[in-house]
Amino acid sequence: MKRFSQDQNHKQLQSYRDPVCGMEVSPITAIEVYDYKHKTYYFCAAICKEAFETEPQKYVQHHRQHGLKPA
Ligand SMILES: [Zn+2]
Repeated sequence: MKRFSQDQNHKQLQSYRDPVCGMEVSPITAIEVYDYKHKTYYFCAAICKEAFETEPQKYVQHHRQHGLKPA
């Protein structure tokens, strides 16, 4: 007899970093979603999305210039 694997559930729990405030959000907990250059960004609050929408380059480039440092 075969049993169903429970590992499938883990795929739903992928998390993303809010590029504005650095908080971790998941597609489930995210308040706002915004597509920019074919990438999807998730935000913890409307105010974060608005900041990103105003100056997306500021937050996207941040990654490369400084590298990733744990807060
Ligand atoms: Zn945020």
